[in-house]
Amino acid sequence: MAEKFDSVVVGGGPAGIAAAYTMAKAGLNVLVLEKGEKPGAKNMFGGVIFRHHTEKIAPEFWKTTPIERHVVEYQYWLMTKESHLLMSHRNQKFNKTYNAFTVHRAKFDPWFAKLAEDAGVVIINRTTADGVIKENGRVVGVKTERGDVMADVVIAADGVNSMLSKQAGLRDDPPLDAMALAVKEVIALPKQKIEERFNLGPEEGVAALLVGWGRGMHEGFMYTNRDTISLGIGISLKDLDESGQRPHILYEEFKNHPSIAPLVRDGELKEYSAHLIPEGGYDYVSRVYADGMLVVGDAAMLVNAINWEGTNLAMTSGTLAAETVIEAKKKGDFSSHTLEKYRQKLEESYVLKDLRRYRNVPKFFSNNKQFFNLYPELANELAYIWHLVDGETKEEKMKRIKSELFKRRSRFGLLSDAYHLWRLLA
Ligand SMILES: Cc1cc2nc3c(=O)[nH]c(=O)nc-3n(C[C@H](O)[C@H](O)[C@H](O)COP(=O)(O)OP(=O)(O)OC[C@H]3O[C@@H](n4cnc5c(N)ncnc54)[C@H](O)[C@@H]3O)c2cc1C
Repeated sequence: MAEKFDSVVVGGGPAGIAAAYTMAKAGLNVLVLEKGEKPGAKNMFGGVIFRHHTEKIAPEFWKTTPIERHVVEYQYWLMTKESHLLMSHRNQKFNKTYNAFTVHRAKFDPWFAKLAEDAGVVIINRTTADGVIKENGRVVGVKTERGDVMADVVIAADGVNSMLSKQAGLRDDPPLDAMALAVKEVIALPKQKIEERFNLGPEEGVAALLVGWGRGMHEGFMYTNRDTISLGIGISLKDLDESGQRPHILYEEFKNHPSIAPLVRDGELKEYSAHLIPEGGYDYVSRVYADGMLVVGDAAMLVNAINWEGTNLAMTSGTLAAETVIEAKKKGDFSSHTLEKYRQKLEESYVLKDLRRYRNVPKFFSNNKQFFNLYPELANELAYIWHLVDGETKEEKMKRIKSELFKRRSRFGLLSDAYHLWRLLA
């Protein structure tokens, strides 16, 4: 491992592979270090990858990629302990122009990595980068248990905990309210059963977000794969810390909810995993460049939690970092003066534009938990009153609905919530 590379990329997830692939295509000599036995071996997500960003790297990738289903319906569940109100958007346009695909990372990541290998990237698995090597304050390589590897630019793509960028002084541990813990099960069911239960065609899939079932800032997620369902929850670390609740117990409560249990009934547990999500948004994006070093994807905290997007930000940031290295190589200058262009590229792209646009949203929801509890509860109660045929006139029902509403949240509170939500999102 004495060879010097144009770039060493630490981490074989979507961010690292997108960066490595782009540099190799431009003729650079690139090494990827991946601590898992293969890319994807240690990775988990919800989830979906997006056509738009993936196809920039691999046109019509869905014809050869191990995808599960293309998403035709997005569901939003407002829940209480015993009920749910479901809003969903299904559109045949998603059958004509694909938007997102459910995938298993253990299958998708190796396929994505092979693309980079075919472009000339060397990937060494089962190798952990233990830290950066600095000379005169400039990053010049990484340490591994198998020896040192030198490079003009080190790209930290080592995910949410990014030991590398912390050790290089580019990032601290974020506060608890900027992180969420996700717990997920993959549950196997016959393909036909999934299609019957979710009213789907043979290749079609559903992506669902579920709130209100817990007692805090908890979200549930559900994705249909070919013959499995990915079911899980995400909980703010601050919320877990303050409430003392146990994630696995919360997950069991969620899975046994009377509206969820029938969807996974008789399913066989295939996989159980947990992972952190950097949900803090724009204000917690790390420093992304230094002399001889760039940071991409989750390592830089680039996740758009509002829109459930992460892999696309990872791929885009990887590509933009790679383009910056290619320019630096042409100039022969790998100092932060040249590498800071990467931050500018991020600012000019949807990655930081979206995160900047919604920068106050994570804090707003963290301080306004009524959106996770009170409003789902109210929506369900009002729907119940409206549907119950009990001799009450419709006029009396409307009065009861209004009085229930204002009993639970003052007029001022309701108006203020609606106003702030509009200001934040519109
Ligand atoms: C529960 C959950 C649901 C999600 N759902 C979605 C979704 O539906 N759609 C979406 O787009 N995004 C989703 N995300 C976010 C998405 O998974 C991430 O944003 C994305 O995976 C980030 O890619 P990355 O390459 O930066 O990091 P990762 O995918 O985490 O990859 C990092 C890689 O680095 C390796 N590594 C770490 N440390 C070292 C080291 N020291 N040396 C060598 N290798 C190392 C790891 O093994 C790993 O392979 C979800 C995340 C979670 C947790």
